[in-house]
Amino acid sequence: MTATIEPSQAELLPSVRNFLSGTKRFLVGGQWVESASGETFETIDPANGQVLTTVARGGAEDVDRAVRAARTAFDEGPWSTMKPNERERLIWRVGDILSERAEEFGQLEALDNGKSAGIAAAVDVAWSADIFRYFAGWATKIEGSTVNVSMPFVPGGQFHAYTLREPVGVCGLIVPWNFPLLMAAFKLAPALAAGNTVILKPAEQTPLTAILLGEVFEEAGFPPGVVNIVTGFGDAGAALSAHDDVDKIAFTGSTEVGKKIVDAARGNLKKVSLELGGKSANVVFADADFDAAVTGSLNAWLFNHGQCCVAGTRMFVEDSIFDDFTAAVAEAASQVKIGPGLDPTTQLGPLVSQEQFDKVTGYLAAGLADGARALTGGKRWGDTGFYVEPTVFVDVKPEFSIVEEEIFGPVVAALPFNAEEGVAKAANSSIYGLAAGIWTKDLSKAHLTARQLKAGSVWINQYNGFDTAMPFGGYKQSGWGRELGATAIDLYTQTKAVNIAL
Ligand code: NAP
Ligand code: MG
Repeated sequence: MTATIEPSQAELLPSVRNFLSGTKRFLVGGQWVESASGETFETIDPANGQVLTTVARGGAEDVDRAVRAARTAFDEGPWSTMKPNERERLIWRVGDILSERAEEFGQLEALDNGKSAGIAAAVDVAWSADIFRYFAGWATKIEGSTVNVSMPFVPGGQFHAYTLREPVGVCGLIVPWNFPLLMAAFKLAPALAAGNTVILKPAEQTPLTAILLGEVFEEAGFPPGVVNIVTGFGDAGAALSAHDDVDKIAFTGSTEVGKKIVDAARGNLKKVSLELGGKSANVVFADADFDAAVTGSLNAWLFNHGQCCVAGTRMFVEDSIFDDFTAAVAEAASQVKIGPGLDPTTQLGPLVSQEQFDKVTGYLAAGLADGARALTGGKRWGDTGFYVEPTVFVDVKPEFSIVEEEIFGPVVAALPFNAEEGVAKAANSSIYGLAAGIWTKDLSKAHLTARQLKAGSVWINQYNGFDTAMPFGGYKQSGWGRELGATAIDLYTQTKAVNIAL
């Protein structure tokens, strides 16, 4: 494979072209460095399979260097000794620079991941900027409390007791390829606001916006060692999660790797937060606004090509409207414009990699072999690039792999339910519990169903109803802890209880 600029990339910004020329290094202790081994890896454009650029491949030795840099910046300052309002200003500046450079980040994300550059700029980059600004504000608002203690075993004693909220220390942040910049922002912004120093390990498929973000941290004026970025493969992530001088790992990715991180954390019992897989239920009642539910349900499983941990890929539809509703969703899915991320008319781009393409097409074959019927889709699209047709499966049984397992592609399984029997039992029969959707005009039914569903986020008459101020995380095997909102500060602080005898 050779690095060539395809016609579809003709509109690339000069800054993006420039970024792609030459091997990319990573950021350790304020220096852009090659890996200790000198190894590099290629990152590719999933729209055509061609090499975008080469990237330094960090391993255990590089992770160790990055951890030492983060440790020094934490223990000796200046990060931990800086005033909260000084940290606030730097973190806010990251948000502003991201907004200024949204088109550049959007193009780079599109090239590396396959998603639409326009959507990446408007959603991934704009939301990342919002997250940095939101958590910049938190830096000055992290508080302990005074506690009115009784101390009954010290009769007559007087005390002054209070709590301090302190940073956890050196945090390893491991992120996946589906929202490379955004998942980094979810972790970096609260970790830094709380006063931690960090090592970010992006996914091997999508290292580029993390590297560009490193330049943004430099431009914003972050002191060396506060934010370290090591690009590499799973072995770099494993070295980070096993490192004895790392105080916390925050991870987003597969449930399988999440369990490996829990095992690796055993050595020093580092804190762990996990945002893992899902197989979310999207429940459509017969009394829903039909058209809004069709559009919203399509968005639920198709957004980001179905490569969303929250994707509503089990679509439960009340039996009286099942045929009409699934036909309408299939018709809408068949109209979606497929193409490369740099084409402004593209709604659905390629999957991220050959591996993901093989995985998703494998599930399509398994679903058909099990006896499911594709109302639309069911196969790859075109003959180059990792494109898959949006696929709506009916005639499915709960035990089919397309119903039970996370596919992470543009595929939905539709299941009818009877309102008398209820939907909660079927919707909750999953090892996952990340998100859920409910479509109904009946207020009581909406609230009652929201209580019944075992999921960390429930969206009513919408899907993907995210906000930076709302906690996000999973029930069951979808994870530990809640990112975003005030709950994210809990993930990156620890409480110290201080008690003074007066
Ligand atoms: P993954 O293996 O869980 O990767 C996530 C991150 O963990 C990447 O940075 C990865 O590095 C790193 N990693 C891999 N092995 C590790 C280890 N032993 N210790 C520490 N870190 C490690 O996910 P994937 O392979 O990219 O995708 C596989 C499946 O996971 C998908 O098909 C999808 O079902 C699910 N997934 C879920 C989410 C989500 O948001 N919940 C996101 C992505 C994928 P490398 O990239 O170098 O392997
Ligand atoms: Mg790539």
